[in-house]
Amino acid sequence: MSDRFEAVLITREEGKDQTVDFVEMTENELMDGDVTVAVEATTVNYKDGLAITGKAPVVRRFPMIPGIDFAGTVTRSDHPDWAEGDKVVLNGWGVGEAHYGAYAGRARVSGDWLIPLPEGMSAHEAMAIGTAGYTAMLCVMALERHGITPDRGPVVVTGAAGGVGSIAVALLAGRGYEVVASTGRTGEEAYLKDLGASEIIPREELSGPARPLGKERWAGGIDVAGSHTLANVLSMTCYGGAVAACGLAQGLDLPASVAPFILRGISLLGVDSVMAPRVLRLEAWRRLAAELDHARIAAVSHTIPFRQVVDAAGDIIAGRVRGRLVVEM
Ligand code: NDP
Repeated sequence: MSDRFEAVLITREEGKDQTVDFVEMTENELMDGDVTVAVEATTVNYKDGLAITGKAPVVRRFPMIPGIDFAGTVTRSDHPDWAEGDKVVLNGWGVGEAHYGAYAGRARVSGDWLIPLPEGMSAHEAMAIGTAGYTAMLCVMALERHGITPDRGPVVVTGAAGGVGSIAVALLAGRGYEVVASTGRTGEEAYLKDLGASEIIPREELSGPARPLGKERWAGGIDVAGSHTLANVLSMTCYGGAVAACGLAQGLDLPASVAPFILRGISLLGVDSVMAPRVLRLEAWRRLAAELDHARIAAVSHTIPFRQVVDAAGDIIAGRVRGRLVVEM
């Protein structure tokens, strides 16, 4: 069998804009690693959109194969934990940023970065969840660790019609939380209610400059937007509540006051999926397999062929993607 495969390659010459091409490669051209994986499915995350469009300096080494997550089957392993035929999932660890990533027929990575594909989950379903869904679960786990239970009151989710947001809504509703979904796409009300949202609020309610303290509206929040949105979410969180922050869809800044922290005892919980320790990843994927049913996963995702991945990167940055995109290799 030929070991040639197709890949997306981002290149940049000194002083010029980056270019993105579909190229043919061989396994010899991959970077070092002790496990080689036949990529079966990948996805388009917001970060992949940033990498391919070049809108933010996500790519830290050129040339680069983008794609921060994949599911597939081990074809070769020199790592004690993995053998040919094992089904695996990868999220983060700088893959698609500093190490050749998922948008290729084959990936060669460190075996320490892989976790087993959960029992009963297909590669396609794992990527319908993807890094967005895994991050949503890390946020839910962070809120729970802080003692935010359904009886404490509603939880707000910002960017609710996006990837992290959609799965966060489904996970919280599935665990009995009352979910307030904030979205700029009010036309997606039916979609969000189907996922379990109790109330939909327009994005503009949270996107302007925040007052130091607002009316107490929710016990907790999952925020994908940062900037004014996160500042507003914090200012409207009830006494003793907590907000898990994982994203920057509105901005990297945080124009907030300390009032929610020092007058209401609010906690801001930072969530990072890229370098999250293995024990948290295993717990997140175990719970995703147990708590998200197949119909929900299907409802939040749609499939595109590999050749559409570059166009889809532009769409996700323009906010035109609802839920999750799965890329079939
Ligand atoms: P998506 O593009 O799927 O979703 C982002 C959503 O944010 C959009 O759908 C939109 O939701 C909302 N949004 C867009 N622009 C704005 C704006 N100006 N103000 C307020 N809301 C806005 O991306 P993902 O769900 O994959 O990722 C969401 C964020 O989380 C990104 O910033 C991403 O980089 C980050 N992220 C971080 C991770 C980590 O490890 N910390 C891991 C994964 C993602 P709607 O249309 O409903 O308004």
